[in-house]
Amino acid sequence: MDLLSLLTDLHADGARQGPGSPAATLQALALARAAGLSEGPLKMADLGCGTGASTTVLATALRGSLTALDLIPAFLARLEANLARLDTQATVSLLEGDMNAPPFEAGALDLLWSEGAIYNLGFRQGLQAWRPLLKLGGFLAVSELTWLTATRPSALTAHWEAAYPEVGTAGAKLQVLEEEGFRPVGYFPLGPDSWLENYYHPLEARFPAFLTRHAGEAAAEALIAEERAEIALYRTHQEFVSYGFYIAQRRA
Ligand code: SAH
Repeated sequence: MDLLSLLTDLHADGARQGPGSPAATLQALALARAAGLSEGPLKMADLGCGTGASTTVLATALRGSLTALDLIPAFLARLEANLARLDTQATVSLLEGDMNAPPFEAGALDLLWSEGAIYNLGFRQGLQAWRPLLKLGGFLAVSELTWLTATRPSALTAHWEAAYPEVGTAGAKLQVLEEEGFRPVGYFPLGPDSWLENYYHPLEARFPAFLTRHAGEAAAEALIAEERAEIALYRTHQEFVSYGFYIAQRRA
């Protein structure tokens, strides 16, 4: 099996595919509301939605239309099943597609959401691709790998700089937002519960069945070894690194 199929198989049963929590999604939404996000109805998108951890929270909390977009059909199928059990306020459309070129007209969106996914484009590139889709004054809410301190253990720096060269402090990320035509209105770092209880613990619980399904596949064993190493690195260094949630408004 190729790596994308293995990743899909490992993650499709998860409630989420990256760090976060319903409380963090609601906290980011509260910051947007405090800065003037209207009660709607709103035109919204959740890009790189995965199985829809944030989509379901937003669709429950907000009125309007919400397009949830992801590359992987198996994730969207899981989201569709989850939505069928929920009483949502917003109308949700699922879309298989590339978040580098989402099919919205210029200036169409009141709210653009993306948790743990903008890194696929790169933070600056993602902001450049997404800014034109927002109305003037429209809100962006994204989570992104962030250093919590100016200095940190060199092994941690080396790992993430190799895996994601754009990793930076919140100060640096806020500056990129400002440079790319946004007015930041809020930032907070995700707490350890967003990594451990909500993401890594359920992921670890799926390892044994996954390894049984893929017995004898070197690529599957290598993938789990890599996931275990990343989890161990986070456990050791959690005071230095997290995801930051950034809430910002498109300016003229
Ligand atoms: N937002 C979800 C998923 C985060 S994982 C959560 O917080 O749980 C990142 C997601 O981005 C995955 O679902 C992956 O399939 C999706 N993705 C990666 N590259 C993409 C692209 N170019 N276009 C659309 N989705 C993409």
